[in-house]
Amino acid sequence: MSELETLHARIRQCTLCRLSRTRTHAVPGAGPANARIMFIGEAPGFHEDQQALPFVGAAGRFLEDLLATINLTREQVFITNVVKCRPPDNRDPQPDEITACRAYLDGQIAQIAPRVIVTLGRFSMQLAYSGVSISRVHGQPKRIGDVVYMPMFHPAAALHQPRYRSLIEQDFLKIPELLSGIQDITADDQHAAPPEQLSLF
Ligand code: SF4
Repeated sequence: MSELETLHARIRQCTLCRLSRTRTHAVPGAGPANARIMFIGEAPGFHEDQQALPFVGAAGRFLEDLLATINLTREQVFITNVVKCRPPDNRDPQPDEITACRAYLDGQIAQIAPRVIVTLGRFSMQLAYSGVSISRVHGQPKRIGDVVYMPMFHPAAALHQPRYRSLIEQDFLKIPELLSGIQDITADDQHAAPPEQLSLF
């Protein structure tokens, strides 16, 4: 068993936070262990919790459509969430739940070592940006170490509020340049989360 598979086995058995008591299945994530691009959403929803797979509902189908616009399939990317278990009634994940689950996300990033991490929504955005609105920084890539972070709206937001749809579609079209390294990205510390906040998520 690879280190990533071992990590996912631990997630499936995890009881570190209260979400373990209400989940049907933990949802570690899905995709190749050597994916060049990783998508990080917020938390599993109803269908994800039932099927133990990330992004399988309507937002997942929209994500697949978005991937198709840049000639990618979900089998080519790694998809996961900030917390691996569904919050009851799809409420927001709580700070202590995010903190409890953070080591799993860090482990996945370390094992997969993607070139680009696309954060979907305001929770995973805080991996790279802190104290700013997602409306202000979406579509603005930022390099931290060897990884380029690209914040985007969550696909579910685009489903519920059509004005976000064209924004996320436009942001997606920037991904190929990021993967090829064509786009020159300077580290922008203006919106950077200080290290202590990054460690706490
Ligand atoms: S959300 Fe994360 S920390 Fe909480 S029980 Fe699930 S896997 Fe464990």
